[in-house]
Amino acid sequence: MRLLLVEDDSMIGAAAQEGLRREGHTVDWVRKGREAEAAVAGGDYDLVLLDLGLPGRDGLSILKSWRARAVGVPVVIVTARDAVADRIAGLDAGADDYLVKPFDLDELSARVRAVLRRRSGRSDAVIRVRGLEIDTAAKRVRWEGEDVALSAREYALLEALADRPGAYLTRAQLEERLYGWDEEIASNAVEVHIHALRRKLDPDLIRNVRGLGYTLAEAP
Ligand code: CA
Repeated sequence: MRLLLVEDDSMIGAAAQEGLRREGHTVDWVRKGREAEAAVAGGDYDLVLLDLGLPGRDGLSILKSWRARAVGVPVVIVTARDAVADRIAGLDAGADDYLVKPFDLDELSARVRAVLRRRSGRSDAVIRVRGLEIDTAAKRVRWEGEDVALSAREYALLEALADRPGAYLTRAQLEERLYGWDEEIASNAVEVHIHALRRKLDPDLIRNVRGLGYTLAEAP
């Protein structure tokens, strides 16, 4: 999934970015409130990790302005403000979860998974679609009961498609899921990963419809 990390502390930001990347997420990191607003306005993020004490505009006021404009991106507040009143204010402003620093990276990852799961309307960590079983906590994929080994990018692409079965994702949307700002994208990267997935899973699993994009939808 594609995450936006909003954190002005270099050490905490670097640790969170590294840990979430290890989980297979694409993580763009900004340090200022204004940069967070620009990134969300211009990008298609699955989730935002939002610090509250930021240079320039405060995280809570940014969150309120997103919600006031019906920007529905899931938000997990990650902050040193640990008072009960702060937690209540954050959740009531529209945060989906609230984590207090210092936090454990494994707990951060688990909370991110939980929020992404709820956003997709799932109650457990396993996505089942057609013959696929994707364990989003263990990052394990089974196809018709057999374990299949996928690369990190193949997995990320498959999870993005399986997360919304029946929806179409364009090549640009899939590239956004796979690559952060600081990564080079080969022009055919998505096609290469789709080709590998079809070979490892099933040739007909992922359909490509001209003008619409890629989908895991049932064949007509
Ligand atoms: Ca801060």
